[in-house]
Amino acid sequence: MRKYFEKILNEDENIFFEKVKQMLQEEKKMFIITANPETLMIAEKDEEFKNIVLSDETTVVADGIGIIKGAKMLSYPLENRVLGVDLVCKLLEYCNEYEKSVYLFGAKEEVIQKMKQVINSKYKKAKVVGAVNGYVENKEEVFENIKKENPDIVLVALGIPNQEKIIAKYYLDFKKGIFVGVGGSFDVISGVKKRAPEFFIKRNLEWLYRITTEPKRLKRFYESNVKFISKIKKERRKKA
Ligand code: UDP
Repeated sequence: MRKYFEKILNEDENIFFEKVKQMLQEEKKMFIITANPETLMIAEKDEEFKNIVLSDETTVVADGIGIIKGAKMLSYPLENRVLGVDLVCKLLEYCNEYEKSVYLFGAKEEVIQKMKQVINSKYKKAKVVGAVNGYVENKEEVFENIKKENPDIVLVALGIPNQEKIIAKYYLDFKKGIFVGVGGSFDVISGVKKRAPEFFIKRNLEWLYRITTEPKRLKRFYESNVKFISKIKKERRKKA
């Protein structure tokens, strides 16, 4: 796990957002991965994904509290979190402020339609140049279209690791753009799924809210978070 902790950015959220804003204004490109324990556990089993996470092309930030806890257990000075949902909201804010374009790819059709409505009412000056649900058969074709549109921001909600893999496949073809794999963020921002109440967010307990409201996530939680912590403990013992 150490290789990941060395790669993950430990930057205050606001400083990070400023950096992203600058990249957007200067029409540079950036590929952001908001990592949680599941990201690292999948990377350990999937070589292609691992290479993406560890590549120089990607900027990895800590989303899940499990990442911070795991880093602490191995004495890595990692304390700053950047939540995926917050990053997406910030990007939409910038998109509105600077009249930039955004392409939405992923999630269910109902969700993507609601996302468009949210953007049209809350981020009026953001230009949505594409909004395609994540269940279309030919996902490559969607990316060909993204290439044609050449948007300033590309948000891909296909779940880990598929969202990162498809971005990585096409990333080198782009000259500009902020690319982010956003997981379930569209579900939350569209209002289709509730975000954890402030009480849970403040106490770093969003994970608890998610597994109690969606019990089918329990197995996934065990596979990623519980196994993640025991893996970390093993590595800590090895070092000692
Ligand atoms: N999704 C998709 N196509 C697929 C599989 C998933 O568009 O083939 C979407 C799904 O609808 C959801 C997102 O990918 O909006 C991933 O959600 P999940 O809750 O798994 O993400 P997390 O935030 O837990 O990473």
